[in-house]
This record gives sequence, structure tokens and C-alpha cells, in this order.
Amino acid sequence: MTETLQFQAESKRLLELMIHSIYTHKEIFLRELISNASDALDKIYFLSLEDDSVKIDRTNLSIEISIDKENRTLTISDNGIGMTKEELIDNLGTIAKSGSLAFKQALAKASDEIDIIGQFGVGFYSAFMVSQHVTVISKSVKDEKAYRFESVGSEGFTIEEDHRDEIGTSIICKIKENNEDEQYDEFLEAYRIKGLVKQYSDYIRYPILMAKDRDENDNEENNHETETLNSMTPLWRKSKSDITQEDYHKFYKDKFHDWEDPVKVIHMQAEGNLSYQALLFIPGKTPFNFYSNEYEKGLQLYSKGVFIMEKAKELLGDHFRFVRGLVDSPDFSLNISREILQHDRQLKAIASRLEKKIKSELLSMLKLDRENYEKFWKNFGMQIKYGIYQDFGAHRELLEDLILFTSSRDKKLVSLEEYVARMPEDQKEIYFVAGDTIEKCEALPQSELVREKGYEILYLVDDIDEFAIQIMHMYKEKPFKSINQGDLDLLNEEEKSEIQKKAEESKDLFTSMKEALGDAVEDVRLSSRLKSHPVCLVSAEGLSFEMEKVLSQMPDADEKLKAKRILEINPEHPLLQTLRKVHSTNPQKLSDIAWLLYDQACLIEGLPIEDPMGFSKKLAQLMIDAF
Ligand code: ADP
Repeated sequence: MTETLQFQAESKRLLELMIHSIYTHKEIFLRELISNASDALDKIYFLSLEDDSVKIDRTNLSIEISIDKENRTLTISDNGIGMTKEELIDNLGTIAKSGSLAFKQALAKASDEIDIIGQFGVGFYSAFMVSQHVTVISKSVKDEKAYRFESVGSEGFTIEEDHRDEIGTSIICKIKENNEDEQYDEFLEAYRIKGLVKQYSDYIRYPILMAKDRDENDNEENNHETETLNSMTPLWRKSKSDITQEDYHKFYKDKFHDWEDPVKVIHMQAEGNLSYQALLFIPGKTPFNFYSNEYEKGLQLYSKGVFIMEKAKELLGDHFRFVRGLVDSPDFSLNISREILQHDRQLKAIASRLEKKIKSELLSMLKLDRENYEKFWKNFGMQIKYGIYQDFGAHRELLEDLILFTSSRDKKLVSLEEYVARMPEDQKEIYFVAGDTIEKCEALPQSELVREKGYEILYLVDDIDEFAIQIMHMYKEKPFKSINQGDLDLLNEEEKSEIQKKAEESKDLFTSMKEALGDAVEDVRLSSRLKSHPVCLVSAEGLSFEMEKVLSQMPDADEKLKAKRILEINPEHPLLQTLRKVHSTNPQKLSDIAWLLYDQACLIEGLPIEDPMGFSKKLAQLMIDAF
């Protein structure tokens, strides 16, 4: 006897959406049906453990897919728990209880179908996106009889008794015909189905079988051979002790299409309130588009081995955007949308655990595996430094221990912790200087005395460096100090009073030089940082020369954003005597000489000189006067 029944109101509405769907990822129906089958297998598996009367071969649980091109059917069968007649009506005639409330609310508000399909457990009904007719034949573990559910759409469905040998369920999808706008034939192609299983259902823990393609040379006997389409056990769900480094590397290279081994593998398996597995990799080279807008950060999302999403960006802060990998948690819903992800508390909690773990793994690499850490730093250090600067320094504490700079001591990379640990006792500040290259930093006149005092200088050669340092302000209570900015407290009391004396003697000289240079400089003064060079330029506190250079290259650069310049003269250099002589005997020459010295100092800093012609003329005149 055939019974005809109606779908519950919301189901009807959802079904109509499915039938007329313009959703671009229709292929997800296969994932949904396979996932249902897998749940049904789980259920019978556990039941058979509890209940001795349920006699099944637990090793034989599987999902089988078959294609019948002639009849345009795609069938997904399982030998899972099955459904009784009542269950067929309840489960397939109404929207699953769990999601129904949320679905009702969304349906009332929904502006378009993409929203709904993307967000909710469309589950079984998604079959209607690609099928004109769906038949379900099921035999429950609780019932001797089998039943057939059939529906051509939202009008309703029929239920009648049917025959089936084995406990389990078959979903038979009669695939729609191609039309002008949509192609459906692909769902009858074995290669396409195999590809979809690989993409979405590779880690379902039961074998997904399919009849082997019949080779022309094959004889009839081979027709029943099947192949397993999925690899079943996800690597990340295996016990760590069963996985070799090779396994991890191979997995990474296959999955993320890289040629090179990662420098770090991080495998997390958490149980408890927050249950998830994560498998993370730090690539061994910088992706070619890493520093462009094209590069998308994010981790793959899985739920119990079922693929949900390619790049969930909420799982990684920008500072760790180089990390590749995946997270699997039973708490993620298969149909979680990107919008929902942003507010998902579970996901936020996982993201924060991952962040801590990535940091601690990087730190231990820095301490125990320097070579690989430096390789990592070369590839992604810039990102970490940007990370410090970003969001007004919000992540500085997280990242400050990870940064490296080249040190004046041995031209090798040093971490801030190492730098501070080896500071002489009398050193109060962390010295740095910014420049285009290590060589230029090294050659700066200002660095000589600092180094002679036995203090290390960090050489900052990337544009971002000084901005990051400024945001950090200090490290372990030691302030950062640029060697060509402000005052350096390098001298002892005796040396200080010596300079004081000389400064008094040269007071008029410096006043005249300052007058000659006008607004170009804030001040002309004696230096307490020079050793062998006659002059240098330093900036007042605030904007530095390197920052001025970086800012001037920005598209909307503000001309007025300039570092305040101070011209410093070496008190020990014979030039000082010469200047004093010129000042007293030949004062009209002093202006030219002041400009020549100022321009020289600019050149040393790599700053442009404002009037190259004037510079050249003055220099020529000086040569004429001298010889
Ligand atoms: P969901 O899977 O989110 O609950 P579905 O609409 O996909 O929603 O399925 C509704 C219910 O139908 C499932 O919860 C399950 O009880 C039942 N069901 C679906 N497919 C199968 C199957 N292959 N075997 C047994 N029961 C199934």
C-alpha cells in the first residue's frame, strides 16, 4: 500500500529553495549524503558494541557509490543503522530537529538562498539541487521490513513497503537533465564523483567504494571489482607516535602543493571542553605572492574528517598568516558560514590556543634549532615585524621575543633576549641604527664610539624596522635608543666637563654657523658620539632620518614630515681648530664652509642634498682658495 504524505511547512519551503537553487556549489549534496551515511554507520557500530543481539561485521561497514548513466541515477548506499517507516517520515519529512529553530529564524529573514544554503544543515534536501526525483530505500536494524520513500519535490512524498536484503539505506538520485543555464551531467561521471569524494570526504573513516571503471580489455568477471576512493584515516587523527617526519612532510607537500619541506610541523590533539585536532606547517620558502593582496591566509576547516572550508581566516592573526594547515573539530557545523565563523566562540578559543602554540614552537625553534629558525626568519620575519607594528602594537608582547636583528658585534642575527642578556652592566639602553644596508650602518660615524665602549648596536635595514621599534618603545624595561638621535649618554663626568669647556669656547662659532644654515638645522653643537669623523648629522627625538625616507616614499607623502636635523662637530678633530680660525680671521667664508659640512653630513646619512649645484660650486671655490 502506498501512502502519500505532505512535507512539514518549513521543509517544503527549504525543498523549494533546493529545487530551484542557483547555488554555485551544488556539488556539496554529495558531501552531505556521504556524511549522513557515515553517521548511520557510526550509529550501528556503537549499537553493536552495546547490544549483543545486533549481529554485524563491524569490519565490513562501508559506503558504496554507483552510477547508472542510462537511467541517470547516482546511488549512495550504506550498511548503517537504517530507518524505520516512522523514521523515514519523521527524519526526511521534517527538518532535522537540531537545526530547525535556527533555520526557521533565518528563513524568515533571509534575503537570498545562498545565505540559507551556506548556513544551514540543508543535509538530505540538498540532493534536490541536482535531482528531479529522490528515492530512499531503507531497512532499519529495528525492523524486519524495508521501506521506500519517494519524492519528486515539494508536493509531498510517498512511502511504501519494499525489499532490501541488508540493513542500511540507499539514496537514489535521479539526476536532472542539463538545461541552458545549468549542467548536471557531470554528476554521472565517475571521475567527477571521485574528485568530489577526494575533496570533501577523503577522511570519512569508512571506505567509500565505487565499481572500478570498466576497461575495454576487461572481461566480465572483473565487473564487480570495487575501488576505495577515500584515504580514510586523516593523518591528524592518528596517534603522533605512529607518524614519521616523512609522513608529515609528504602530507604537507601533497596537500598544499609545495615542493619544499616545511621548516616546522605542529600537530595538536586536544580533548576536553575544547576538542579539536590541528595540523600546522611553517613553509620552507616564501610563497611567491606572499607579500601581495593575492595571498589569502587561513586554515582548512574540517568536522570529524569532513571537509568544510578552504581558508578560514579567523583562525590566524595576520602576524602568523604564513602558517598553512587545518583544524578539525566536531564542534564545527558542516554548513557553518563565513559570517557565522566571525562570531563563533569555539573558533575564537581554538584560534587563541593555536596562536600560543605557534609562538611557543617558534621560540623553541629559536633556542634549539637556530638554523631552521633563521631560515624561517628570512622568509617570514618581515611579517612578524609588521605584526608588531600593526593594530597599534597590540601584539607586541606576543611577538617581541621572536624578532631578530643583525648585531654590530659579529654581523649575526641576535634576538632581543640575547642582546639584553649580554649587555654590559653599565649599559642602560638598547642601541640601534637604521640604514639601507648593514655596511652603511656599520660605516656611520656615529657608531664608532658606541662600539668602542663595548656596546652592541642593532642594525635595522628593513623599512618597517624602526616603526616596529618605535611601537615597542622598550624591551624588558630597556628603552631602545637610536645612535643618531637625541643625546647619547656615553661619556664620564670628566669627559663631559671637557666638552662643556670646549663648547663654551666655540659658542660664537656655532652661533654663526647656525645663522648661516638657517632653518636647515635646529642646532649646531659639539658631538659626544664621534671618534674619528669630523661631522655628523643627528636628529632630535621624534621622527628619524630613516622614517623620513620611508614616509617620503609614500604616495600621499607630507613634504613637511621631516626629521629635525642637528649638525654635530667632533671636538677632537683638527677641523674644529680650522673652523675657529676661519671664524676669527675670515668670517665671510664661514657660511660656505658650514654648508659644505652640512651637505657632507647629509650625504653620510643617505639624505639628498638640497642644492647639489651650490655644493659643487662651493667645493670648487674651496679648492681654488687652498692651492
Ligand atoms: P541532519 O543530517 O543534519 O540531521 P538531514 O536532513 O541530512 O539532517 O537528515 C535528517 C535525518 O535523517 C538524520 O538526522 C538521520 O537521522 C536520518 N538520515 C539521513 N540519512 C540517513 C542514512 N543514510 N541512514 C540513516 N539515517 C539517515
